[in-house]
Amino acid sequence: MGIIVQKFGGTSVANLDCMRQVLAKVRSAHCGGANKVVVVLSAMAGETNRLIAMARQWSPRPDAAEMDSLVSTGEQISVALFAMLLKDAGLKARSLLGFQAEVETDSRFGKARILGINSDKLRAMLDSHDVLVMAGFQGVDCHGRITTLGRGGSDTSAVAMAVAINADVCEIYTDVDGVYTTDPNLCSTARKIPKISYDEMLEMASMGAKVLQIRSVEFAKKYNMTVHVRSTFSDCNGTFVTQEDKSMEAVLVSGIAYDKDQARVTVLDVQDRPGVASALFSPLADAGIVVDMIIQNTSRDGKTTDMTFTVPRADLDETLQIIEAIKHRLGATGVLTDERVAKVSVIGVGMRSHSGVASRMFAALHDEGINILMISTSEIKVTCLIEEKYTELAVRTLHDKFELDKVRNAC
Ligand code: ADP
Ligand code: ASP
Ligand code: MG
Repeated sequence: MGIIVQKFGGTSVANLDCMRQVLAKVRSAHCGGANKVVVVLSAMAGETNRLIAMARQWSPRPDAAEMDSLVSTGEQISVALFAMLLKDAGLKARSLLGFQAEVETDSRFGKARILGINSDKLRAMLDSHDVLVMAGFQGVDCHGRITTLGRGGSDTSAVAMAVAINADVCEIYTDVDGVYTTDPNLCSTARKIPKISYDEMLEMASMGAKVLQIRSVEFAKKYNMTVHVRSTFSDCNGTFVTQEDKSMEAVLVSGIAYDKDQARVTVLDVQDRPGVASALFSPLADAGIVVDMIIQNTSRDGKTTDMTFTVPRADLDETLQIIEAIKHRLGATGVLTDERVAKVSVIGVGMRSHSGVASRMFAALHDEGINILMISTSEIKVTCLIEEKYTELAVRTLHDKFELDKVRNAC
């Protein structure tokens, strides 16, 4: 008997009609008893945002632990409703919240990491059920407090679950029918990618392609769990996120990602001496803030310099508070911020063995009169920070420039 993990995102459980479509997928996976199914659900579309907005009416930065108790309720609604539907359809099913499935996490509220899952308990439960319906996005810390895994965290719940119970298949169902060369809702010529390597998907996710949460891809890569990203609303094969193979290397650029959720921070006149970068970035790292692009300017007077970097916009307030607390140690005279920026990235494993991608990218942006504010590169990615208002233009231009509508055939 096989074990199948199926995760359904917010738009897939947006209302009761959508849930009926999900029921059809689960029934088909259960296949009259041939397989056991673990369904991982998100909150109904818009629910998490609604809960966050309510809390923000109290304060711009509500208590983090209470916030997790609050936002985790979105998933609780989905799993309870869906388990009822399954039972009415004659399947042996039950819902499970994070703490009931013993999804143990650290205590970083709002961005917790999964430390372990009680797989023995889940396997025992599967013996007596056809379907387990797990709340995604949530876990419990060692003090018994509810935690959440960051926006899009149900993807990570699903992959971690698939790894923990050694599932045969891990399917992520969403509102698009796979991973595309870029966001299909932004670029009409985007094409579905039948197969993508873990590394490319990691870069796509970390550069803003929210179709999979980054941590879910990290888990999949670490445990070599193939993930099938596909649509709830069609039966077509989607995209397999899997190990790299030779055919993938033949493609120079696989995708374009963008991220509007960025802010640029410049700390002015920090001392130009050993230890300053560490004094600035260590407290940010300790707070779980992901600093991405970093530029340290050349010192003009040999004594001071400016340090510029990007952080997720949601972390800007906390970043500024941290800088305020350490400013005197850095010798900084001020801080500038800009929230009207976005990152665009060109990604492909073929870049490991081919040069020229960065220069083609810069030329394409130049042709459209788009100014590059910052640049960062990795082995398989080039990222430019630009003004936010040019994001759509930049993505479409780069998609055309690298002929991504022609690179791979969609299934
Ligand atoms: P879910 O609610 O199912 O988790 P998300 O909204 O988190 O769905 O992710 C799906 C969305 O990701 C799509 O609607 C699409 O707009 C966006 N997206 C961004 N980049 C890509 C990409 N390269 N391929 C597919 N979808 C993408
Ligand atoms: N409901 C959470 C969110 O909106 C988690 C998820 O959907 O994956 O981010
Ligand atoms: Mg998502």
